[in-house]
Amino acid sequence: MHSTAQLLAEGFLHLLFPEACIVCRGILKEELRFVCASCRAALPYTDFFKDERQYMENPAGKVLMGRIPAGFVLPFLIFQKGGSTQRLLHAIKYKGAKTLAYEMGYVYGERLCRAGFAYEIDGFLPVPLHPKKQRKRGYNQSEYFARGLAAAWHKPVAVWTQAVERHIHRASQTRKGLWERWMNVRDVFALTPEGKSTLRHQKVVLVDDVLTTGATLEALYQTIQVAGPQSVGVITLAYAGDAFA
Ligand SMILES: [Zn+2]
Repeated sequence: MHSTAQLLAEGFLHLLFPEACIVCRGILKEELRFVCASCRAALPYTDFFKDERQYMENPAGKVLMGRIPAGFVLPFLIFQKGGSTQRLLHAIKYKGAKTLAYEMGYVYGERLCRAGFAYEIDGFLPVPLHPKKQRKRGYNQSEYFARGLAAAWHKPVAVWTQAVERHIHRASQTRKGLWERWMNVRDVFALTPEGKSTLRHQKVVLVDDVLTTGATLEALYQTIQVAGPQSVGVITLAYAGDAFA
């Protein structure tokens, strides 16, 4: 893909304007992007996946219990205000760091498989963005995270990007209450004809960037329920619930 000249130019630019770690602001070595090695090691990993009894028995699982009949709810990182996960998500959402979302998915996928993840899955269903939002951002961060997960998975799995569409453009949710938020995201998803056939009898993993109230994931689950998936689980990049606030 890259020509030698391009690589040389990139290396030269890196020397002139070395990239800083988005967490500690330290200068990055050339082979790493966005986050330095020591900040990577120190990220607040949940590690819920290491113990099968914690697949649902964790703070994120409790948020969705009784709302989605999931076999597992496994966020990768814990979100804390002002913490490293917040900086990471900010870079992914607003600074074009889509490869960072992919990389995080890849690392998590590898760890899950290496730990002998106890569920068979057929594919990942990233929460779709509204087309307008996706055009503006240029990509869907949840899709890149899902693509990283799939690339690292020990067997071929699908990433379904055409199965569900998002319809209503949401207003900013920051100053709304729980009920208003729920009303606001309700019915924004629609199953496509393709989704109806491809998700049938499949072991589906819903993928989102951040799990907070669970309203988005619940709405997505209700949308795909009609297609008759065989089982469902949830993987997110981060969990931002009260337990860690
Ligand atoms: Zn750092």
